[in-house]
This record gives sequence, structure tokens and C-alpha cells, in this order.
Amino acid sequence: MINILFTANSQRWAQYEKPLRHALDDTGLPYVLSQKFTDPETVDYLIYAPKGSVSDFTPFIRAKAVLGLWAGVEAVVDNETLTIPLTRMVDHGLSQGMVEWVTGHVLRHHLGMDRHISGQDGQWRDYIPPLARDRHVTVLGLGALGGACARALAALNFNVTGWSRSRKTISGINCLSGGAGLDQALVSAEILVLLLPLTPATENLLNNARLSKMPRGGVIINPGRGALIDDDALLACLDNGHLNHATLDVFRTEPLPENHPFWAHNKVTVTPHIASETRPDTASQVIADNISRSEKGLALRYLVDRNAGY
Ligand code: NDP
Repeated sequence: MINILFTANSQRWAQYEKPLRHALDDTGLPYVLSQKFTDPETVDYLIYAPKGSVSDFTPFIRAKAVLGLWAGVEAVVDNETLTIPLTRMVDHGLSQGMVEWVTGHVLRHHLGMDRHISGQDGQWRDYIPPLARDRHVTVLGLGALGGACARALAALNFNVTGWSRSRKTISGINCLSGGAGLDQALVSAEILVLLLPLTPATENLLNNARLSKMPRGGVIINPGRGALIDDDALLACLDNGHLNHATLDVFRTEPLPENHPFWAHNKVTVTPHIASETRPDTASQVIADNISRSEKGLALRYLVDRNAGY
């Protein structure tokens, strides 16, 4: 019998129990799925999300892997009690949700939609936006989510530049890497989308010097992680007119505190970490597939590189 402990909170258990059982049944493996096992030493796999029931993995001496429900792993990657393999979530539904959110917000700024949405005041605002092919969009991070968004934007004809740690070749996208590549990616970024993980190497990456490299009037869209950006530097660049807008989905502290200047700033749009969510149906299949692979002695998919931090 394979014992699978669901450690995410009860609200997620309500969403995930049925799809997980469905996906696990399909594997044909004998299993017990529960939010609690009396003896942690009997648990084979842990399904994990931050702020759940487990933060000390020491008692799970038989466990073979911790399977994350989230794409971002910064809350667990440094946990010293976690010595077994850790996987993160790469899920078709999650990617599709992010593509839709990013595309929507890029189009909002590209088309200048706010002029007409908030300007029902009798003024004939005849602003004609450029075509997408003449709009430079840069995506920092070309992984599961950034790569999908870059491809979707390129399919709409945007002039897309992407930046990642390892150099990539993606048809229709100007792919860059390294420090010089980042400078180049920023200099052309009329619209900048952040889909990097939060690691020691990416924290505060968007500081004053780098934000200043963006073209005047640039827009930032951040569904990655709040701490990728130096908040004060961003506010300064918005206030001095260098940047035109920031659409932010993620923050250093979540929920964003009521008194945070982002809330009241007329050049900031706050969305409450809803850019994309792991979808229970598709994510359950990913979890079940990984358990099945592990039981057959195959390599786990979406393993986190603990040294790189993502
Ligand atoms: P991936 O691990 O698939 O991709 C990460 C990308 O960032 C890769 O291209 C990677 O490069 C690049 N990268 C990492 N570190 C560096 C660095 N130091 N310099 C340059 N590039 C770097 O992650 P996902 O695409 O699945 O997710 C990205 C992030 O999106 C998550 O970590 C999470 O923070 C956020 N997220 C936000 C959600 C929301 O609702 N707001 C929902 C889900 C995720 P390389 O390809 O070379 O490895």
C-alpha cells in the first residue's frame, strides 16, 4: 500500500481530494490518500503547499518525495529538514491561466485601453496604438510559464525578447541570457513581464539601475514574485515619470498591507495573486503521474534544483 499524505490546508483538500483520487485510481496503484497518518514513518509521498500542516519533514523517514502543488518553491526550497527529492508544479491549466492573464494585461497597456475605459467624459481621444509587431515586449524567465507567455505574445505578432539563465532557441523570440543579455532585454522593454522564480540570484533584480535602463514610458507586469523588484525604486521610477505603469500580482507581503503605497498609486494596478492558480484536475494528474513514475523506478518530473533554488 502506498501512503500519500496531503499536507496543504483544508480548503485545498476540499478542492483536491476528488480529482486526486480520480487520477490515482487511474494509475491502478494501491494507495491510501489522507490528510493525516497516525505514524509519519509510514508515509511514502507528501503533497505539499506552503502554510499547510508540515514544515518539519524529519519524521517522514520512509518518504520518497515531496510533491509540490505550486510552481514557486521559495517557501520550501531552503528547508533543511527536507532531504528527499522535491518536485514543483508544471501544469497545463496553470500555464494556460498565466498566458491569459499576461496577454490580457499586455494588451491593456499596448492598446491604451484605460484611456477609453476610465475616460467616458465627452472627450474624443483618438489615440491609435502601434501594431503589435512594432511593440517590444520583454519576458524575463523563459520556463514553463514565461516560455508559454512569450510564445503566445509572439503568436499575436508582438516583438518579443526573452531572457533566461541558460540560453534558449525559441522560434520567433529573441532569446538572451547573461548580464549583457539582461541589459539588452531591458533597453528595448516597452512592456516588461516578470516570470522569474524568487531565488538569491533574482531577489531585487529590478533595482533602480535596471529599471532605469527601460525606455521612458515603459510598463512592468509582475506575476512572478514581489521581491524580484525593489519597491522603492519602482515607486521612484513611476513618480519621476520614467515608467508609466506597474501591474503587480505578487508582493513581498501578501495580502498587500492596507497602508502600502501601491494601493493608492494612480500608476499601479494591484491584483491579489490571482494571475494563475494550479488547477486541481490537471495538477492531480501531474501528481499521480509522478507517483506512478517513482513506483516504477522512473525519474520524477519537474524536480527542483535545490542549489539553483527553483
Ligand atoms: P520555471 O522554473 O519553469 O522557469 C523559470 C525561468 O526563470 C527559467 O527560464 C529560468 O532559466 C529563469 N531563471 C531562473 N533564475 C534565473 C536567473 N538567475 N537569471 C536568469 N533567468 C533565470 O518556472 P515557471 O515558469 O513555472 O514559474 C515562474 C514563476 O512564476 C514561479 O517561480 C512563481 O514565482 C511564479 N508564479 C506565479 C503565479 C501567480 O499566480 N502569480 C502562479 C505560478 C507561478 P532556465 O530556463 O535557464 O532555467
